Parts: sequence; structure tokens; C-alpha cells
Amino acid sequence: MLIKDGIRMDGRKPDELRPIKIEAGVLYRADGSCYLEWGGNKIMAAVYGPREALPRHIQDPTKAIVNARYNMASFSVEERKRPGPDRRSTEISKVTSEALESVIFTELFPRTTIDVCIEVLDAEAGTRCAGITAAAVALADAGIPMRDLPVACAAGKIDGTVVLDLSSEEDKEGEADLPVAIAPRNEEILLLQMDGHLTYKEFEEALDLAIKGCKEVAKLQRKALLNKYKTFEVE
Ligand code: UDP
Repeated sequence: MLIKDGIRMDGRKPDELRPIKIEAGVLYRADGSCYLEWGGNKIMAAVYGPREALPRHIQDPTKAIVNARYNMASFSVEERKRPGPDRRSTEISKVTSEALESVIFTELFPRTTIDVCIEVLDAEAGTRCAGITAAAVALADAGIPMRDLPVACAAGKIDGTVVLDLSSEEDKEGEADLPVAIAPRNEEILLLQMDGHLTYKEFEEALDLAIKGCKEVAKLQRKALLNKYKTFEVE
């Protein structure tokens, strides 16, 4: 049983996020970076560029290429993961690149690449959302011009109840997982995936909940950036 009397196994209410901690500008050699903890997830994001795209034949004379690479450390999961890319990480890298590219003013930097490295150090479900959220802060920290700061959060269904931000148990045993990334200012959807089954009504409820979650996480992203660039703590 994953939810009893409206309380989940980890003590959360259906619409409650796991604890989140975000820190901007943690790496010396990257142009921008972010360290993020989200429940049991620990994620480092680093941004390099815009820099000349090499070899030259990959250059786009009209815009920058956004190249996100999602990687899971072999020690980040319960059963050791074979190092290097696999189908899952290739898919997550692709959807992340597309989500980020759609908010970056890429036309300002023709013939360049903007490289975004997302390293999952510890994984406990929801790593693609956590990765996009961290990458957005790292991009802002690198001074990359964007029309909004993207943010991501998942909703899902456990024991017939629509809930926010699935834990590892809930992800494994639950009925559905719906990761969503948005540009919070106009709620434009940048990423929408779904695993499992939802009725149309449940889907609408889950999407609304995920968007609400995104907006809560967006506040923490802004706080992290302000904390780095102000000389006093922002509450
Ligand atoms: N996971 C794992 N081994 C893997 C891939 C994933 O143990 O090779 C775990 C990990 O905790 C991850 C979770 O399964 O967060 C859910 O993975 P999913 O593919 O749904 O992506 P995510 O929810 O992390 O975006």
C-alpha cells in the first residue's frame, strides 16, 4: 500500500514535493553550474559555452546547437549501472536538449555549441526533472540569454490517487508517472512524457498538479540564483 488515509509512505500529502536544495555556481571550471538535491537525488549540472562548434561541419550558421548530455554514475543506483550511454540516457539527453533549446536565444550565437552536462550522482526517481531543473540554473549562472527559466516536476498515480513528485517506491509500484517541464511565465510545456496509464480526467488532474509543482520549484531556482549574486541570504 503506497497511500493510506491521504498520507504517503514517506509522510507526504498527495500534493507535497520531496525536500529540495539548490545551489548555483559550484564548479570553478564550468561557465555555469548547479548542484541540486531533490529527495534522494543528487545532481550536478555544468554548462560550457557558447563556444565554437567543432568539427566545423556540425556548425549551424543561423544558431547555436544545444547539446545536453544526461549521465548516470555507475554508483548512483541500487544495482551498479554499466558506465556510458545507453538507450535511456540517450533519450533523456535528447528530450532535455530540446526542452532547453526552446527557451534559449540560440540565434544570438551562430556556429557555436552550448554544452550542458548533467551528472546524476545519486538517483531516487524523477532524475530527468531534477536534471532539467539543475541545467536551467546552470544556464542562467553561465549568463546564457533565455526567454524564461525552465523548470520540471513530475506527477503520477499511486493506488488510484493522483500525486505530485513520485518517490522511488511510488515510481516502481505506482500506476503512472508524468514528467513535465514548463516555461513558468506562460506555462508553455517544454517536455511531457508519460509512463503507465491514466484516464483523460486523471491526466488533466496530474498535468495541473505537475505544473503547480513546477511553479514551486521555480521559486527555489530563483532563490538559488539570487543567493549567488547577492551578498546577503535571500529568505
Ligand atoms: N533507475 C535505476 N537504474 C537504471 C535507471 C533508472 O535504478 O539504470 C532508477 C532510478 O532511481 C531512476 C528511476 O529508476 O530515478 C526511474 O527511472 P526513469 O527511467 O523513470 O527516469 P526518472 O524518473 O529518473 O526521470
